[in-house]
Amino acid sequence: MRDGLDAFKPTDKCGIIGIAGREPVASNLYYGLRILQHRGQESAGIAVYDGEIKARRGMGLVHEVFAQDDIEALRGNVGIGHVRYSTTGSSVLENAQPITCQSSIGDIALAHNGDIVNSADLKAELQRKGWGFMSSSDSEVIVRLLANEIAQTGDVERAMREFTSVLVGAYSLVLLVKDTVYAIRDPLAVRPLCVGEIDGSYVVASESVVFDTLGGKFIRDLKAGEIVKLSPDGFQSFRIPHPSHTAHCMFEWVYFSRPDSVLDGRLVYDARVRVGQELAREHPVEGDIVVPVPESGRAQAQGYSRASGLPVIEGLIKNRYIERTFIMPEPTDREISVLLKLNPIRSAVKGKRIVLVDDSIVRGTTIKKIVRILRDAGGAKEVHLRIGCPPIRAPCFLGIDMKTRDQFIANGRTVEEVATFIGADSLGYLSIQGLIKALKHPRDDLCLGCLTGEYPVEIPGEKVRGVKPLETFATAKRAPAARKV
Ligand code: SF4
Repeated sequence: MRDGLDAFKPTDKCGIIGIAGREPVASNLYYGLRILQHRGQESAGIAVYDGEIKARRGMGLVHEVFAQDDIEALRGNVGIGHVRYSTTGSSVLENAQPITCQSSIGDIALAHNGDIVNSADLKAELQRKGWGFMSSSDSEVIVRLLANEIAQTGDVERAMREFTSVLVGAYSLVLLVKDTVYAIRDPLAVRPLCVGEIDGSYVVASESVVFDTLGGKFIRDLKAGEIVKLSPDGFQSFRIPHPSHTAHCMFEWVYFSRPDSVLDGRLVYDARVRVGQELAREHPVEGDIVVPVPESGRAQAQGYSRASGLPVIEGLIKNRYIERTFIMPEPTDREISVLLKLNPIRSAVKGKRIVLVDDSIVRGTTIKKIVRILRDAGGAKEVHLRIGCPPIRAPCFLGIDMKTRDQFIANGRTVEEVATFIGADSLGYLSIQGLIKALKHPRDDLCLGCLTGEYPVEIPGEKVRGVKPLETFATAKRAPAARKV
C-alpha cells in the first residue's frame, strides 16, 4: 500500500536487484532495495548463497524488514533482492519474494517484476506433474517451471531457453541458481532491467538510479529476450527468440520509474518534461500560473511552463512527514488522507487562473479533491487541469494493478464529463500521438494497452494490437503461447 496521495495511483510489481561480487553483497542489496522502494512497499526480501541459499523476507518497507543483524547474518558474495506490490497473489508473507525452490541441482531463488498471463494454465499443468505450491503468486509458477525444466537435463541455460518459451506476459527476473546470478528480460522488454558495476561487483537492477546512488556505473539496459549470467569478472549474455519490436510499458516513463533513472535510453525526467511541452502545445489555456501536483506532476509542469511561458509556482505543499496510511477503505477516509497530505499556498494561488498539471488520472477521486482544495482553501479563480497521459480506459495484465475497467473515470465518459466530475474549469489529456512523440520511441515499441485496449500479447477476451503477436516471432522450436508445460 502506498501512502497518502500515491495510495490512489496504480502500483507496480516490483523492484528487483541481483549482485555477483567478491565480498558479501547483502549490504548493497539492502541499499539497492531502498533506492527501488518506490516500486513496491508491501514486502521486501533478500536471498544470498553462502554454501546454501539463505533468505529473509518480511512485510513492510525495506528498513522495517531488515535490521543490521539481519544484513550481517546474510553472508554470501552473490545474492538477489526484491520489493513487492502485489498484482497477482494477495499481500501476505507467503507471496513475498525472493521465492525459493529446490531443484535437482540445488536451490533456486527468484525475484520477479511483471505478470504472467498464462500462469493459471502453467500452474495446473505443474500440479498434474506433482508440483506443490506454497503461494498464490505467479512468480512461484515461474520458479517451479524452471526447476521442472532443470530436472530434465540438469543444464541450466538450456532450461532457461525452454521455460521462457512457454511464459506469456511481462517478466524481468533475477535468479540465484545455487551460487550463480542470472537475469532475464522478456522478449518484449515490457518492464525495465539494466546491468552495471558497483565496487567491483556486477549488478542487475530494475532502474539505473541504483548505480548512480551507490557510486557505481550503469553499463546498459538488457535487451528484449536477453539472459545474462553475472560473475565478479563481468557477465555473459545470450538471447531467447524475440520479435523485431519491443513493448516497453509507457507508464514507466509517465509515472512509475524515478525521474533520475534512464530507461531504454531515455532519462525519465526529460521524457516527463517533453510530455509537459506537448501538453502545452495540444492544450493551451489562458492562465496565470502552472501548479504541479506534488510530486507526480512536477517535471510535466516544468515542460508545460517552458512551452507556454507561464511561471511554475509550487502552489501545493506536500506533508512528507505524515505517517503512512495503511487502510483507507471509505471515500471519506481517502479525502482526509488528501487533506492531511496537501495544503495550498494561499498567497500564491488566491485569485489566480491555475493550470494544474499531473501525470495521469485513474479513478479521479484524488484529483477532484485537489481541485477543491485549490478553490476552497486556496481561493483559486479558475483551475484548468492538464494531464500528461491519455485517458486510461482498459486494464493492465502486464504488471500494474489496474485490473478492472469500472475503476477508470475515463471509461465510458467524455472529457467534458470527466472535467465536470472533477470540478475543473477545463481538462486536457495528452494525446497518444503526443505521448509517443515525448517518449521518443516508435509506437510499435511501446505497450499502450491500458490506453487503447490492444495488448502486445494474447490475453483471453482482449484484442492483440496490430503488430506481430507473440507466436509469429517464435522459432520452430519455440512453443506457441498457449502450450502447456
Ligand atoms: S497495459 Fe498500460 S500499464 Fe500495463 S504494461 Fe501496458 S502500458 Fe504499461
